[in-house]
Amino acid sequence: MSEKRVEDVIIVGGACAGYTAAVYTARAELEPLVIEGFEWGGQLQNTTDVENYPGFPEGITGPELMQRFRAQAERFGTRFISDDATRIQLSDGGIHRVWVGDEEHLAKSVILAMGAEPKRLGIPGELELAGRGVSTCGVCDGAFFKGEKVVVIGGGDSAMEDSIFVSKFASELTVVHRRDEFRASKIMLERARERDNISFLTPFVPEEFIAGDDGKIARVRLRRADDGEVQELEIGGAFVAIGHTPRSELVRDQVDVDDGGYVLTRDGSTRTNLAGVFAVGDLVDHTYRQAVTAAGTGCMGALDAEWYLRDTPPSSGARRAGPPGQAQEEQVGAASDCAP
Ligand code: NAP
Repeated sequence: MSEKRVEDVIIVGGACAGYTAAVYTARAELEPLVIEGFEWGGQLQNTTDVENYPGFPEGITGPELMQRFRAQAERFGTRFISDDATRIQLSDGGIHRVWVGDEEHLAKSVILAMGAEPKRLGIPGELELAGRGVSTCGVCDGAFFKGEKVVVIGGGDSAMEDSIFVSKFASELTVVHRRDEFRASKIMLERARERDNISFLTPFVPEEFIAGDDGKIARVRLRRADDGEVQELEIGGAFVAIGHTPRSELVRDQVDVDDGGYVLTRDGSTRTNLAGVFAVGDLVDHTYRQAVTAAGTGCMGALDAEWYLRDTPPSSGARRAGPPGQAQEEQVGAASDCAP
């Protein structure tokens, strides 16, 4: 009976972070296996124009950018499984197991890059008008709404952050929140209140995003939470900023996560509490959530995995990869991989 192949590295997740980790580990000749998911490409697959990814002065569509990430990883020998990981069994410094249905894959290291999903309101028009006026990322899409009247839905820091950013472009911005009290930090709320073109409408719950004749968003129907009064606002854009859900469900009971389910990493690295398990991208990041920051941590995860494999002798199955001491000097050399 032939022995089962043990991969050097399995990357779970096919989007900015996962594909970047694949480019780096493939170039390090680790022949990564990427379990990229049935709907690979992540949040950028639902994004039209991306104008803030460095290196594309004319902009690029989200799906094309993901296609390019993937092709670059493939060029250096990455192998892909275009299906969802269904079960993950992590070890602490030993062999990790990842299943895709009945298919089991073994690896010495795993890079978790499953991302996070924006929470949805679940109202009519929300998905239908995604990319045609309804957005879940103010920082990504705000600049497309110059001179428009827009709403931002939500009462947390994300809603305030989006509002402050988008108000630089929109003519008028209304923050719509379901309660009179805000979850956002005082300072963020104050910054939003200070802007002349931002107003607040509470306690209102959005009921429907309605398209105009051109197929783009034209109105939002709102219902007052206390007395049921219905209002319609004419708008050219709507930002849904009600939080994110990290896709950590397959590993939540194995690696350390925070209260929100985001995987915790150590000492400014991508190392988790388990040796040989690294976490990157939006799965660990509830602050920046940009394509370029996800790609950056994907690179970090690849280098951390590479150093772990280099510093962990095959016989020491349970050895924990300690903080790189001697290895640190070599890290500098490895990081020069970023140079052209
Ligand atoms: P959050 O704090 O969970 O706030 C989500 C907001 O959306 C809440 O106000 C909530 O209303 C509202 N909401 C949730 N579901 C809703 C629904 N179905 N319909 C209408 N409204 C709904 O999420 P977040 O703002 O994304 O922040 C997450 C974490 O990241 C926080 O710790 C935050 O401080 C941090 N963060 C920090 C910054 C920064 O400092 N620059 C920026 C972004 C995020 P209720 O209040 O009524 O529940």
